[in-house]
Amino acid sequence: MTLLEGSIGVEDLVLLEPLEQESLIKNLQLRYENREIYTYIGNVLVSVNPYQQLPIYGPEFIARYWDHTFYELKPHVYALANVAYQSLRDQDQDQCILITGESGAGKTEASKLVMTYVAAVCGEGERVNSVKEQLLQSNPVLEAFGNAKTIRNNNSSRFGKYMDIEFDFKGSPLGGVITNYLLEKSRVVKHFEGERNFHIFYQLLAGADPQLLKALKLERDTDGYAYLNPGASRVDGMDDTANFKTLQSAMTVIGFSKEEIRQVLEVVALVLKLGNVELADEFQANGIPASGIRDGRGIQEIGEMVGLNSVELERALCSRTVETAKEKVVTALNVVQVGTGEKRKVMGVLDIYGFEILEDNSFEQFVINYCNEKLQQVFIEITLKEEQEEYKREGIPWVKVDYFDNGIICNLIEHNQQGILAMLDEECLRPGVVSDSTFLAKLNQVFSKHGHYESKVTQNAQHQYDHSMGLSCFRICHYAGKVTYNVNSFIDKNNDLLFRDLSQAMWKAQHPLLRSLFPEGDPKQASLKRPPTAGVQFKGSVAILMKNLYSKKPNYIRCIKPNEHQQRGEFSSELVAVQARYLGLLENVRVRRAGYAYRQTYESFLERYRLLSRSTWPRWDGGDREGVEKVLGELSVSSEELAFGKTKIFIRSPKTLFYLEDQRRLRI
Ligand code: ADP
Ligand code: MG
Repeated sequence: MTLLEGSIGVEDLVLLEPLEQESLIKNLQLRYENREIYTYIGNVLVSVNPYQQLPIYGPEFIARYWDHTFYELKPHVYALANVAYQSLRDQDQDQCILITGESGAGKTEASKLVMTYVAAVCGEGERVNSVKEQLLQSNPVLEAFGNAKTIRNNNSSRFGKYMDIEFDFKGSPLGGVITNYLLEKSRVVKHFEGERNFHIFYQLLAGADPQLLKALKLERDTDGYAYLNPGASRVDGMDDTANFKTLQSAMTVIGFSKEEIRQVLEVVALVLKLGNVELADEFQANGIPASGIRDGRGIQEIGEMVGLNSVELERALCSRTVETAKEKVVTALNVVQVGTGEKRKVMGVLDIYGFEILEDNSFEQFVINYCNEKLQQVFIEITLKEEQEEYKREGIPWVKVDYFDNGIICNLIEHNQQGILAMLDEECLRPGVVSDSTFLAKLNQVFSKHGHYESKVTQNAQHQYDHSMGLSCFRICHYAGKVTYNVNSFIDKNNDLLFRDLSQAMWKAQHPLLRSLFPEGDPKQASLKRPPTAGVQFKGSVAILMKNLYSKKPNYIRCIKPNEHQQRGEFSSELVAVQARYLGLLENVRVRRAGYAYRQTYESFLERYRLLSRSTWPRWDGGDREGVEKVLGELSVSSEELAFGKTKIFIRSPKTLFYLEDQRRLRI
């Protein structure tokens, strides 16, 4: 056990003394500065982004973690992956690994390390190797189409990802199912200066050979494409050309045919070209603005590429559709199915945005924070339940834990009638004049007395004047802190409508892939009722995710970004403190400590401390529990501090453990 011996700070925050925010951050900092990026909170792993390659991930580390149990070695993402995989295989218990943290904190890297570890230990053989290869190769594909350079992270995932890896009864992998959440589609048409569009566009232009470029009617230079500007066309340390090769081979490994790859790239090229189509606002005789296309050549080219009549395409583009194409659209994407039909064990890996508070918070932050609120709820419930169950198993009376139950906030958002999402839907479907402000007025009316809801109106009613809040805003007191949301465009974003004329035009394309992307353009579908709102879809995905989590054993990785500059070695306490709060770390330690900070089997405990008593050292022939009683009795540890369970000794305060450790050090 290396829990204390020679460790830098404490390796498990459960042993922190005194337990407060400041000491918690200090401990993480001390460890980080000594290149110890991992720390436990019980079985939760806290990871601080090192922003450098540490020599701790090679095959010898995989082998070492494979051969040891959780607390035997230093905290590591491999230790967590190992526990999850071994319990899956040996105890037939489905697992889930939840990775949260803000952008740039290291979530995606952690998920890749988990997958690398599992792939390394889950067996060999031709079929197994081919499945492993597919699982690992899904990453470059997802990253090409879903990642982009942002100001915070050069390789930022612009979607949430949940992946179920399926195993047979022996623990060999069968395949995987990937679900995506909240892809930031708006990036295609708009991104900030200094950021980039999705990697795929740059990869294609840089990496395609001359024939392919010609076939796609593209130019190599990114400057010519409106959607790729403004922005950095290059990213330090990222080789778009090489990544394009990697992407092509990854797509082949996953099972795309040559023809399918070509079709995907054609659609990518199409998007670039559409971005260059310039719309001219013209005024009709009656003064109503109408758009026209300035340069018909581009349209013609696009039409030829995808087998579309260019007149029809022009008509479709010149309707209101262009406006909607600029929106940020939020949705759950399709599920990709792989695998066969035998009895399976499942390991889920969730890599999703953490709690988010930006300068301007909109619908996107609202749903992301709702998801995090739900994840927190599951986390607390499951952790408490596990503690309770251990106490029960060990025959120890349960100690009541004070914690903040965020059910009331979840309810405020998701309640079927009286929840914010339901009320937004009602507003979207209501006939008559609806607007973001009628929606807000309704919230203000219904939630005027709600303890976790605030707005200018409710504040005025209570004579609290907070000038930081605008008239078009409401505020929610989340478990992680207060967030002010601006209701502007909530209605549009929730409606998530692509105008029918565009879908219908696209559905008529000869291009099979393009056509399949617009099933709602099928005239036979036209009479069907409107598609569900973005809010309903997201709430549905969250509900499925939660059900999924409750049915599995969760394992948590909490990722922290130590500074805003993607710099190694720099640790900003303020920045980390904010994240620690959003991640609920302190609450986590408190719940986890639920009365007893430390527990250990009698056998291991005696093994370590028996040298502290003359009765048990150098020889002890009695039982383990009696031995432990002798040791603690001789050291006069107060009985208040202890509980004797069926197989384990429980110690209330870390101080007692440190005292034992000090005594031990004096003797050896
Ligand atoms: P997130 O998914 O949370 O937005 P990423 O996992 O993409 O963040 O990490 C951002 C960057 O930080 C990575 O591109 C990598 O350079 C660096 N990084 C993250 N975790 C590690 C790690 N364990 N070792 C080395 N570098 C890391
Ligand atoms: Mg990511």
